[in-house]
Amino acid sequence: MPESSTSLFTRVYYVAKPFLPRAVRWALRRHRAAGIRERHADTWPIKEVLGDTPAGWRGWPEGKRFALVLTHDVEGQEGVEKVQALAELEMRCGLRSCFNFIPEGGYEVPGSLREWLVSNGFEVGVHDLNHDGKLYRSHKDFSQKALRINRYLRDWQATGFRSGFMLRELDWLHELDIEYDCSTFDTDPFEPQPDGAHTIFPYWISHPDGAQGARARGGYVELPYTLPQDSTLFLLLKEGDAGIWERKADWIASKGGMVLMNVHPDYVDFEGTGNGMTFGATHYENFLKRIVRQYGDGVWNALPGEVSRFVYAGVSKLTPDRVSWPMKPSVAVHPGIKIWIDLENTPHIPFFCPIIRELQRKGHQVVLTARDGYQTCEMARFHGLNFQRIGRHYGKNLVAKVWGLVVRSVQLLGFARDERPALILNLGSRSQALAAKFLGIPVVEIMDYEHTAESAFLESRWYLTPEVVNEVLNPGNSSTRFRAYRGLKEDVYVPDFQPDASILDQLNLRSARVVVTIRPAATEAHYHNSESEEILVHVMERMLTSPGVRVVLLPRNKRQERELRNTHPAWFDDSKVIIPSEVVNGLNLVWHSDLVISGGGTMNREAAAMGVPVYSIFRGRLGAVDRHLSQHNRLVLIESVTDVDHKIRVEARSDRELPNSEPSAALKDILGHLDEIVSSLHAGEVVARRSHASR
Ligand SMILES: [Zn+2]
Repeated sequence: MPESSTSLFTRVYYVAKPFLPRAVRWALRRHRAAGIRERHADTWPIKEVLGDTPAGWRGWPEGKRFALVLTHDVEGQEGVEKVQALAELEMRCGLRSCFNFIPEGGYEVPGSLREWLVSNGFEVGVHDLNHDGKLYRSHKDFSQKALRINRYLRDWQATGFRSGFMLRELDWLHELDIEYDCSTFDTDPFEPQPDGAHTIFPYWISHPDGAQGARARGGYVELPYTLPQDSTLFLLLKEGDAGIWERKADWIASKGGMVLMNVHPDYVDFEGTGNGMTFGATHYENFLKRIVRQYGDGVWNALPGEVSRFVYAGVSKLTPDRVSWPMKPSVAVHPGIKIWIDLENTPHIPFFCPIIRELQRKGHQVVLTARDGYQTCEMARFHGLNFQRIGRHYGKNLVAKVWGLVVRSVQLLGFARDERPALILNLGSRSQALAAKFLGIPVVEIMDYEHTAESAFLESRWYLTPEVVNEVLNPGNSSTRFRAYRGLKEDVYVPDFQPDASILDQLNLRSARVVVTIRPAATEAHYHNSESEEILVHVMERMLTSPGVRVVLLPRNKRQERELRNTHPAWFDDSKVIIPSEVVNGLNLVWHSDLVISGGGTMNREAAAMGVPVYSIFRGRLGAVDRHLSQHNRLVLIESVTDVDHKIRVEARSDRELPNSEPSAALKDILGHLDEIVSSLHAGEVVARRSHASR
C-alpha cells in the first residue's frame, strides 16, 4: 500500500511486532487506545451522521427492520479449536454466522470443520492470505497473492473476503473472485487504517472500467462492520460489559441499518469471564439473546453472502446511467480523509466551527489541536470542540517568539506523526505550517490579509482568500493554487450567531445609553505599530467624557491588561470601563454594542459582517479587505488623533436586524474548493499507486 495512508506507528508496529512479546504489544496498544478514545468521543462508537439512509435505499427483504450479520475471523490454532463451541452458542440463539479462516497462516484449516459449518447453515470466508500485515505492500505483490486467494475461494466455495488488520486497497480487490468484502467499518479510529466507510449500510463498489470487476459482475459489495470488534471492546479498552454493543445496536436498529459484528473465537472464554486476553462468552451470548428478545421478527439475521446477493440483485436491475443505488451514501463523494486543524488563536474557533461541522457531514475525520494561551482552550471547550492541547504562548520578545514557534512545531510533529492527516487547514498557524513542511503534508491556507509575509519555505500548497485579496495575489485568476471565495472570512460563521442578552447583565450594561466595545491592537503581534497606542489613549479619553457611555475593553491577554491598568489607572476609577473577567462570545458582545473600535482585524470584520458601526484603529499596512470595506463605508479608518474627534459617532444604534442565518456564499465557496482539493488528492493517490506498482 502507499506509504502515505499508513501511520508511522503502524509501520513501526508491524516491523517490530514479531519481536515483541504479546503482553507488551497489548500494553502499547492499550496506552495508545486510551488517547484515541478521548479524541474521538464524538465519532466513536456512534457517529450520528452515518445513520443517514443512502439515496434510493429500498429497505431490507420482507420488510425487516434491520439486518444482523455475524462474522468471525479465526486468528490462530486456539481459535480453530473454539469454532464449534461458538457456532453452537449461536445456534442456541437461533442464529447463524460466517467464519473466516486464514488460508496460509499459523494453522491448518480442517476441511471437516468447514463442512460441518456449512452443513449447519453457516458460511465460510477467506481471511487474508498470510495475515502478516503485508498483503498490500505493493500492487504487484498483491496481484500474485490474489491468484492464491482466488484458489482458496474456489476450493472452499467461498464468496467473501476480509483482510488482516482491516488493511485495504478497495480498488485492488476487484482482482479477487469475490461477491463481497468486509474489510471496512463505519467508524473505528482504533484500526491502523482508521478512515471509515461512512455508512451503516452495505454498498456497491463498481469497477472503474465497468464490467471487468470481481466475477465479471462489474464490482463487489462492501459490508462494513458496524459494532466495535470484540478485541477493541474487551481486550483493548477493557470494557466490563457489552453496553457499547447494546447501545450501538439499538441505534442502528432505529436507523434501519446493518448490525455487522466481528467476534474472534480466539478471544472468547467459554469457561470463565476472561483473563485480559479473552472475554467471557456470556457477554456475547447475552447480547445476542437480548437482540432476539427485543426485536424478534424485525431482525434479518443474514449471512454476509445473503446480504451481498440481496444488494447485487438491486444493482443488476439498474441501467448503467443509474448507478446511484446502493452506492456509498450521499454524504461522501470520495472516501473521507483525515483533516487536521490547529486552533492557535481565539478567532480560529468560531471560524472553524461551521467548517468542521460540514466536513464531518461529508464524512471526513477532523482532528484538532489547540494552543494554550490567549484563552484559546477555554473558548474551544465553550464551543464543544474535542481537541488536544499542545504548546503554549511564549510572549512578546522576538527570541522567545521564535523559540516558541520551534518548540511548538516539534510538539505538533509528534501529534501529526501519530495522526497522519491527509490534509491540513491552516488559518495562520505558523507552527502547524512548519510541522506540515517537515512531514510533507499538504496545507490549505485560509487567509484574508495579503501582507502576511511568509518565507518561500513555509508556502502552502493552496490559498483560499476573499475575492479582493485573490485579485492582488492571483491577477487574472489564472492559478488554481489561489482560490477565491465571495464575501468575508467572517461571513462563514456570522450566520450561526444567536444573540444572548444575558451578556448585558453579566457585564452590567443595562443602564448604559451607549455601549462601546474597544479592542486594543495586539502589542505582541508582528504588525504592531505604536501610533495605534496613541490613538487608543485618545479614543478612551473621548469615550470616558461622553455622557451615558460604558466601555467594554478587551485586552488581548493578561499582560496587556496589566499594562493598561498600570499606565492608565484613571480609566478604571469608576465603573465606566469594564474588562470582562471571563471569556465572552466576541460576536455576541459586538452585537450588543452600539459601536466597535478595534485595532484587530477580526473584530472589525465581525462588526462589518453584522452591520454594527465599526472604526479601525489598526495602523499597520492596510489589507485589501479593509480597504474594500472602507470604500463601501462598512468600516471607518481612524488614522490620526483628529480622526478620533471628527469621524467617530458616539450614539446608540437603531438598526438591529439580525444577520441572515442562511449558510453564506463564503462558506459554500470554501467547502466547494475543499471538495475539489480532496478530489485532486484522491486523483494524486491513484497516480502514486500506479507508479508504485510499475516499479
Ligand atoms: Zn485477523
